[in-house]
Amino acid sequence: TSNKVLVSACLLGREVRYDGKDSPVKSASGLQWLAAMHRAQRLVAVCPEVGGGLSVPRPPAELVGGDGLAFWRGQARVISVEGLDVSAEFERGACLALELARRHQVCAAVLKARSPSCGGASVYDGSFEGRLIPGQGVTAALLRWAGVAVFTDEELDQARAFVEARG
Ligand code: SF4
Repeated sequence: TSNKVLVSACLLGREVRYDGKDSPVKSASGLQWLAAMHRAQRLVAVCPEVGGGLSVPRPPAELVGGDGLAFWRGQARVISVEGLDVSAEFERGACLALELARRHQVCAAVLKARSPSCGGASVYDGSFEGRLIPGQGVTAALLRWAGVAVFTDEELDQARAFVEARG
């Protein structure tokens, strides 16, 4: 592997979220580390949802029927708040993220927590009422299946320790 890290584009100030905004990193030390990694050209940015063909802004979408792992088992879908099935776009975006991870031989990924694509530990339950379930997003699940160490933006200190231990 290389010393590069795959990262959710919205954590790098790119306004690619469903609501047309970015996702500012909350931890000061984490932000500092990401900025240093960025300057060293060690970050590979990806937004799986935009990469998969969705627009900015777009209606919010949630996993229905389970998390990202259930999605890859064919037990869950991704549905927008308007009732549109966007599973194909989520699948395409996840494959694109994996392709980038492999091409750059990243040693880890830092992804936005709770996103139906990027979430690493919990995702919304499909009710659009703000309820979380334990589980991961569609892209996070695929990357982990492929052996990539996935951290969320709430685990930046752990991500940093993991990456620095690998040089
Ligand atoms: Fe950010 Fe991932 Fe959502 Fe794109 S898909 S806006 S990178 S959380």
